[in-house]
Amino acid sequence: MLWSLAVARNKTVQLFRHKNLPLLLRHRSFSTTGLYGIPHLKSPKGFQPFVDEAIQRSGELVNYISSKPSASELMRAMDEISDTVCSVVDSAELCRQTHPNREFVEEADKAAMKINEYLHYLNTSHDVYDALKKAEQECHMLSAEAQRGIKSLRVEMERGGIHLCPETLDRVNKLDIGISHLCREYNQNIVTDPGTVDIYPASRIPKNLHHLFKPIYKSEPLITKDISESKDTVKEKGFRITTDPRTLDSVLQLSSDDEIRKMVYIQANSVPHANVDVLKRLISARHEQAQILGCGSYAELAVKSNMASSPKVVMSFLHEMSKMVQAKSTEELNLLTKFKREKCGQNNGDLRPWDEAYYTTMMKSSVYKLDSLVAASYFSLSNCIEGLKVLVNSLFGVICHRIPLAPGESWDPQVLKLCLHHPEEGDLGYLYLDLYSRKGKYPGCAHFAIKGGRRISQTEYQLPIVALVCNFSGSRNPSAVRLNHSEVETLFHEFGHALHSLLSRTDYQHFSGTRTVLDFAEIPSNLFEYYAWDYRVLKTFARHYSTGDAIPEKLVESMLGAKNMFAATDLQRQIFYALADQTLHGEQPHPLGDVSSVLAELKRKHTNLEHIEGTHWEARFSHLLNYGAGYYSYLYAKCFAATIWKKVCKEDPLSPIAGNALRTKFLQHGGARDPAVILNDLVPDGIYRSYNGGIIPDISSLCEEMELMEENQKKVHLL
Ligand SMILES: [Zn+2]
Repeated sequence: MLWSLAVARNKTVQLFRHKNLPLLLRHRSFSTTGLYGIPHLKSPKGFQPFVDEAIQRSGELVNYISSKPSASELMRAMDEISDTVCSVVDSAELCRQTHPNREFVEEADKAAMKINEYLHYLNTSHDVYDALKKAEQECHMLSAEAQRGIKSLRVEMERGGIHLCPETLDRVNKLDIGISHLCREYNQNIVTDPGTVDIYPASRIPKNLHHLFKPIYKSEPLITKDISESKDTVKEKGFRITTDPRTLDSVLQLSSDDEIRKMVYIQANSVPHANVDVLKRLISARHEQAQILGCGSYAELAVKSNMASSPKVVMSFLHEMSKMVQAKSTEELNLLTKFKREKCGQNNGDLRPWDEAYYTTMMKSSVYKLDSLVAASYFSLSNCIEGLKVLVNSLFGVICHRIPLAPGESWDPQVLKLCLHHPEEGDLGYLYLDLYSRKGKYPGCAHFAIKGGRRISQTEYQLPIVALVCNFSGSRNPSAVRLNHSEVETLFHEFGHALHSLLSRTDYQHFSGTRTVLDFAEIPSNLFEYYAWDYRVLKTFARHYSTGDAIPEKLVESMLGAKNMFAATDLQRQIFYALADQTLHGEQPHPLGDVSSVLAELKRKHTNLEHIEGTHWEARFSHLLNYGAGYYSYLYAKCFAATIWKKVCKEDPLSPIAGNALRTKFLQHGGARDPAVILNDLVPDGIYRSYNGGIIPDISSLCEEMELMEENQKKVHLL
């Protein structure tokens, strides 16, 4: 869920990767509208003229660019192409992920395919590339943002291999197609082979888990005294456990039968076996592609435009984190092992991988006596939406009010539309909320850009439009739906992304909001998670659904206590995943060795977690595909968020002073400024340090918050 940044990462879309929506949408007029307020999308078939007109308009702009206009005109034209094309890409993506009408989804699919083909043509246009190179030579008189735009467009085209000879470029394109096939195969295998474990008799499964599994039956010979007569059989009932991640979590947390937990753990970490080979082929293809593009590894290619700038910097950051978390996580392991021994009445016996979630859950609930239903009674969905409104109002003086959807604009009757309005500045942007689960809808919680902000003229600004998509279950009445606290945290995380887009005021939509490098884009979302944990914030909206009482401070303290218990172990696991992602995409031996044993070795070195021989978790860890060499970004951004929280927000989280700093120094710049400059402006004193051409976040705020420092300092004193 924390990795659900809804950004198209498709390589073919790379030039116009983080872009957006439709041609100039003038202010809402309720008489003419279609889906998302796009006039073309009054019906599913509207996607066809929508995509055709976008391609036609872009073609006109490419012709104009071929005439080598001034650098300033070129950047404006490029941004309009980007805006036009991305309007199709982004609206088609949101539609494919959420629209309940099959015909809309199918037409969106077709539009996406057509626009992707066109993107490929654009990304390989030498006319555009030559014009960009020329403009880069002449752009020193332009605004810093325009200069940055021209340079970044040129660099992104080179990432696609535009500067290579035709034969080499052809190989890059073939590898690209191969890579996307492998990704599809990997994801498909996960769906078709989730793994199953059959358990007999049914009584081994606690009643409260029965609803998760399918009952199955097998015939057993009926045992009678006279064996020769035992032709009758009885049917024995059992359960088939599907080891998909969701069911797996429930079984590992709640089943008291350690044999069952073990079987389920091992099966879940062994399927789909076919992906072991798919992953290996994918890594090789990515590696070859990176080498053709002049990089030593895929990680180098993926990281070089990020803040970290090179795999060496990323590794150094991760090793620093790994060292810092070691002592506390060992302490946590010892504590949990002791707890297990007490519960089992044993003097020895190690904690096995399938024990961890079970005893962690049990220990947290026995120490903090937390009942998730009690906590949820303060988090009705309507309260939580109120919380988001409180946040923007206190921090930014912005009023978030609900506005009616025009006929045809919505895709489900439950979708809400909010307008962010500033009393002096007017409307700032629009937010659709599509919060309830539906069959076939995007699972989880994510932020989708629909339209990026951009300056149209001296007096006109194209307002950003985004959608927040969640999957809260239960009734479709917002005051009857109650969220558990982790859902509240996710909602705030995604709202952080949404605010980044909505408060963005860049000149070009190419840099609007979250359209920035990955290891920077996750900072606002991680920062807004803090708001979901702070009592001073929670008491403003978290009220009991029947009594109306504000959430008790003691309850929030217990929730925080439970969160922090075993937090070092959780962090260590994330560090391990990030190290695995870097290592697999790093420099490769030839031929590529055994991926599973490389990962097992890494696990032994960097975690307290036991590796079970023969298992391979990497066969269904799709983050390796989606974030190839970028998984570290979450931890990296988490460190920055911890420092910003501590230095800017913690003293008075809802203060307009904090809000003003966040908005004017950070959020409004989107990707238009160098991220390091933005961070340094917001927290001038040591939020990062320069290292080897990149930057490493200061980890002390996160360590202090997780009490990792103390341990380390104690050790230093002992020495
Ligand atoms: Zn995120």
